[in-house]
Amino acid sequence: MSTDRVVIVGAGHAGFAAAAALRECSYEGAITLLDSTAALPYQRPPLSKGFIDETLAEDAIAFRDREYFAREGIELRIGVSAVAVDRDNRAVLLSDGARVDYTHLILATGTRPRPLPVPAGAGAFTVLRTPDDARGIAANLAAGGRLLVLGGGFIGAEVAATAARRGLDVTVVEAGPQLMGRAVSAYTAQHLAASLERLGVRVLLTTRVAEVRPGAPATVVTDDCRSLPADHVLAAIGVVPETELAERACLPVDDGIVVDEHLLTSDPAISAIGDCARVVRPDGTSRRIESVQNATDQARCAAARVTGRPYRYDRVPRFWSDQGPERLQIVGHADRPTADALRGTPSGRSFSVVRSDSAGRVVAVESVNDGRTHMMFRRLFESRAPIAATDLADPDRPLTELLTLSAMGERNPL
Ligand code: NAP
Repeated sequence: MSTDRVVIVGAGHAGFAAAAALRECSYEGAITLLDSTAALPYQRPPLSKGFIDETLAEDAIAFRDREYFAREGIELRIGVSAVAVDRDNRAVLLSDGARVDYTHLILATGTRPRPLPVPAGAGAFTVLRTPDDARGIAANLAAGGRLLVLGGGFIGAEVAATAARRGLDVTVVEAGPQLMGRAVSAYTAQHLAASLERLGVRVLLTTRVAEVRPGAPATVVTDDCRSLPADHVLAAIGVVPETELAERACLPVDDGIVVDEHLLTSDPAISAIGDCARVVRPDGTSRRIESVQNATDQARCAAARVTGRPYRYDRVPRFWSDQGPERLQIVGHADRPTADALRGTPSGRSFSVVRSDSAGRVVAVESVNDGRTHMMFRRLFESRAPIAATDLADPDRPLTELLTLSAMGERNPL
């Protein structure tokens, strides 16, 4: 019987997937999965979609039921926080005074909502992070009235679309010049903004919130001195990685817990995976990705290493979003600036945008309501074929032909 134990801090997508993947990799040691939320580990994507729209049952978001954890021998310790790591003695200290020894520790601590950088009275706004938050937003949607959403990112756009469809009077206040500025091209952002506006949403771009005054109604004051009354205010201005535990353990942190391509921190007994991890490549570039696919794939990579089959993590990231009638899919990752080429017409319902960096390399493709085309783009990306952006964007070049050519091409180091 093995005396090894992997302790996983954080039971979000990355943490849960790591526990499951360890068993799939035939890991025979003990597994302890810790989370400060006293709920069965749950999936986050439905929280900003079906869960707030009450089209999804409460129990539908749990990854697995209790029997699964018992059957797989995964010790679930929920409602308790990891407060420190004793690296010398390889133990995690818990908020209830207990300590858990490990042979390997996986930090999957995720992110928390970015604090609103302006004065805001207590209870003046909500955030969307946990099922409790989502229940509160669902109640607000049921109550109706005016919803003011701060931030036009993934959460802001998804919730705004749902709320408008439910008949609320919705305004989105976005600091940047376009919606989802860090995630999508101007073509896609304009299409999504127009779609929200067709649902009746007011989209205020290049507008920052200056103050949120509580009350009934609350008042959101913008930096251009507008006072916007609201029955409900949702702050969705992004997230920051949960790195405190790593910092206290003196592990390197730089907007994320710094790991190498094997997802190892500077301590070979500690990995970090998912939204909290910043992967540094040998050429010195680094990236922290907030996505479910990235969390799951990094979990598998870490589990394979722990069980003796290491490989470098180099999966192409993927994202998706449902915003009212619009389905957005993204493969790759675009760090600005990019050159963007359209395949299809943005005035039509379906199109894709091919994004390339300053060296002309295709770095991402995003598709709106274009699932079949997007699957081919995904296959092209995963083949790492060095295909010109102009070919990808050319509607007269069938993607099937490019896929065949890619089979003969060399890898594109995305
Ligand atoms: P997000 O997607 O990063 O969007 C936040 C938006 O708020 C950005 O456009 C940001 O602009 C803007 N912003 C920042 N400060 C602001 C201010 N003071 N006033 C107005 N706008 C401001 O973050 P999120 O929507 O809060 O989502 C949180 C996390 O959940 C992310 O990790 C996201 O990926 C994840 N999530 C993903 C999905 C999905 O993949 N479908 C769905 C829901 C949630 P700048 O970029 O200019 O700062």
